[in-house]
Amino acid sequence: MKNAEIARLLDEPACSHNTPDKVACGKLKPGATAGGCSFDGAQITLFPISDAAHIVHGPIACAGSSWNGRGSRAEGRELHRLGLTTDLSEQEIIMGRGEKKLLFAIKTAVERWRPAAVFVYQTCVTALIGDDLEAVCRVAQDTFGLPVILVDAAGFYGTKNLGNRIAGDTLVKRVIGTRDPAPVAARPDMTIHTINLVGEFNIAGEFWHVAPLLDELGLRVLCTLAGDARFHEVQSMHRAEVTMLVCSKALINVARKLEEKYGIPWFEGSFYGMRDTSDALRSLAKATKDTDLQERTEAVILREEARLRQRLLPWQEQLRGKRALLYTGGVKSWSVVSALQDLGMTVVATGVKKSTQQDRERIHQLMGEEAILIEEGNPRMMLDLYHQQRADVFIAGGRNMYTALKARLPFLDINQEREHAYAGYEGLVELARQLVLTINSPIWERMRRPAPWSTPLFP
Ligand code: SF4
Repeated sequence: MKNAEIARLLDEPACSHNTPDKVACGKLKPGATAGGCSFDGAQITLFPISDAAHIVHGPIACAGSSWNGRGSRAEGRELHRLGLTTDLSEQEIIMGRGEKKLLFAIKTAVERWRPAAVFVYQTCVTALIGDDLEAVCRVAQDTFGLPVILVDAAGFYGTKNLGNRIAGDTLVKRVIGTRDPAPVAARPDMTIHTINLVGEFNIAGEFWHVAPLLDELGLRVLCTLAGDARFHEVQSMHRAEVTMLVCSKALINVARKLEEKYGIPWFEGSFYGMRDTSDALRSLAKATKDTDLQERTEAVILREEARLRQRLLPWQEQLRGKRALLYTGGVKSWSVVSALQDLGMTVVATGVKKSTQQDRERIHQLMGEEAILIEEGNPRMMLDLYHQQRADVFIAGGRNMYTALKARLPFLDINQEREHAYAGYEGLVELARQLVLTINSPIWERMRRPAPWSTPLFP
């Protein structure tokens, strides 16, 4: 990828991080890829497309896990759970056999799994040795008669965030708009509207909490990019009436391009917490300008909120007044605050490392002007803050898990590796349940006791 192309992707007009110094968009500094390289960002964005084969062209270490590398769930085909790689060795790199090996890998994947498409991922090594992946993908596409798409996001191009953008840009250029959605039967009682959900990764299957409500309202999801997505759904995204950017700035370029190229309006929303779920449903209904849908949406919200309040009662009794230290990124920095407040908890501080100015404003609206915003957390600082603020639980991503566990503090994983589904009204009940189980687990008290061998048996 040329430098000019990378600069174009970093200069995203819809992103509020896009300031002259481009702090978060990827101004490269030494260590910029430590939180995930561009290849990593591209693969986590596209891997959830479940009927495509995803082949990582490079050394085996780039591919990471060979099975289930990401918590996205899908129904039906599950090719995204396979970690396919060309596993380039030193010998093959020196002897220039990378391109041949890639072609063989594509052939094997096509014959063995019959995917709807193949995505080929560039990595640092193959970019440095100059394998012509464009040519290999072209030959493979002509030979096997299915889309073979190069994702040119070598790790050294920049940050994970840049990789997300490259992946989104690849879809806009090569995939979206290449097929129309299958027709659906009209419903006599309502007009069906079509929507896209961009940045919804269906972690732990959480979108399945929301999908039945959208179905009931007559909102047909053309594509969730990319949780539980099929390749033909991505192809038909240009036919949606509205796009909701779900909890992620990562694919903002896709939402903007859909608006520019196809006139599809977009807004940002979240399905975490009761208030945000209701707001998201309202915004979707409003965007369609269908007054009947808006009325039906209000009725569904009323029903679901009343039901949820009842179901939350026993959990709220145990969580009321509990204090949480939250360290997560982007939109989750406020959407999870809102969810925790819905449960009657106090959020003592929240991370804002990857948050935009709007995210910060939302945090202040929710937590007040005195809110503690964590710009850059390190283990020592997080632990000090936890104790100073007398927190009861540390809620963060998997990278912080060992900090909390070594300090024997209750910890709940809120990021993409998590096992539990927290979206929608149903997800809030699950979040409450997991918080109660975490905070009240007897393990913390046992772990804090002196080890049996530290007290003499015979004083
Ligand atoms: S693409 Fe490059 S930076 Fe990313 S994992 Fe592979 S070698 Fe490391």
